[in-house]
Amino acid sequence: MRAVWIFAILGLGVVLLAIRRPKSQASMDGPEPDVSERVNIDSFPYEFGRNLSNDTCPYCGIQFAKPPIRSRKCPGCKNRVERVSVGGGQKALVTMAESEKYWAARAAEFSRRMRENNLRLFQNTKERARYIGSRAYIWQSAGDSSVCAICAQNNGKTFSWNQAPEHGHAGTCDACTEGYCRCWCEVIFSD
Ligand SMILES: [Zn+2]
Ligand SMILES: [Zn+2]
Ligand SMILES: [Zn+2]
Repeated sequence: MRAVWIFAILGLGVVLLAIRRPKSQASMDGPEPDVSERVNIDSFPYEFGRNLSNDTCPYCGIQFAKPPIRSRKCPGCKNRVERVSVGGGQKALVTMAESEKYWAARAAEFSRRMRENNLRLFQNTKERARYIGSRAYIWQSAGDSSVCAICAQNNGKTFSWNQAPEHGHAGTCDACTEGYCRCWCEVIFSD
């Protein structure tokens, strides 16, 4: 009977610890963030516009005894065949032209999702920072050679949460050549 009580008290302790554990940066109080910095592209929907197969050549239609794992020359027509993910855990053999279009569309979709995510992230950071009395932030760039000219110019400078510079706030710059901005806001408490 005593053992049961000891286990019950230990169990309660674990539950309380789990409840008390901070969900994110402990220093940032206020509204809870509803954003993730990770963008998942696994479920990317793409229409090839034809019936796909995982074991026949997309050029000449011969069946592979052993389908390629990634890319391979067709033993029949000698064209290069590529194997791509088509969603739902399915793979398909496609032509090089189809593969190029697919990867371009996938990259564009990834950039679009990153921009969307970054905008939410910025708005959330702004909301939480203002809640704890911040009026401005320092623009921090990724600091590598891919940073665009606008972001490089804004790097290290102070911006008001309420006044966006010409190409947008840190993390939402619309001039980034990569398709999305990788900069972030360092929250400060004096402007
Ligand atoms: Zn072939
Ligand atoms: Zn930029
Ligand atoms: Zn940037």
